[in-house]
Amino acid sequence: MRILILGGTGSARVLADHLVEDGHQVTSSMAGRTRNARLPRGGVRVGGFGGVAGLVDYLELNRIEALINATHPFAAQMNGHAFQACQQVGIPTLRLTRHSWADRPEADTWWWAVDHDQAGCLAQQFPGTILLTVGRQHSNDYYRPLADRRVLCRTTMAPDDPLPETWEMVVDRGPFDLAGEMALFAAEQVALLITKDSGGEQTAAKLDAAASLGVQVIMIARPPLLAGQTAVTSADQALSWVADLTQDQR
Ligand code: NAP
Repeated sequence: MRILILGGTGSARVLADHLVEDGHQVTSSMAGRTRNARLPRGGVRVGGFGGVAGLVDYLELNRIEALINATHPFAAQMNGHAFQACQQVGIPTLRLTRHSWADRPEADTWWWAVDHDQAGCLAQQFPGTILLTVGRQHSNDYYRPLADRRVLCRTTMAPDDPLPETWEMVVDRGPFDLAGEMALFAAEQVALLITKDSGGEQTAAKLDAAASLGVQVIMIARPPLLAGQTAVTSADQALSWVADLTQDQR
């Protein structure tokens, strides 16, 4: 089967590797924002498609039979475009995202924000050092509301703009474990964690550390799924979805 995976995440890479192993013709599409990204097996293309119309052209030209959108849960625009384009072309599509943190037992103790603006306003009410882990693209949304606060800004790549004077950059792509996170929180006397519901296990240790140390958490809610969208939370479930499609084709 000819499958397009919208990638840029670890689970997209794992999925592509398995689908290639199973004999499918897989192309992974990357936005092209990450330097030295680890590439999956199979074909790789880089860069935007040019909106819904561009993606429709790509799907038709390459006779794609199924699309799996495994982009980050916060890549809302790409998700909307992918869903619309697949509906127009008439091919099946699946959303693969990591399991949301909203199901964690301590989730109802967090301060949930609908977006970065709201999170920045909320954060002004809490004293003490802030650990900000909202990704490179959105760190600068907090420059103004938290301009005079001590903020440790942790991202996988440094933001392009210079940081406010009271901020400190921590460039680290993990993996993060509980011992390391507890040590960081204690050494820096972190009082507030601002993060977004990226979900999954790889970056969840900071939440365990916050719960164990009684650190306040502001959590930005992820964009909702679209009406009628089929979604799964693991590469294994996505493989089963493809297996069912292949079965139907026979
Ligand atoms: P976005 O706002 O939903 O997408 C903006 C535009 O970027 C899309 O309309 C599309 O351009 C292009 N694009 C996004 N993902 C693409 C892909 N996999 N292949 C080709 N074009 C893509 O997305 P974003 O939040 O900027 O994220 C961009 C990429 O970074 C995604 O692949 C995502 O998985 C990864 N990422 C995002 C986050 C995050 O927090 N948002 C975190 C880690 C990794 P056209 O309209 O021209 O097609």
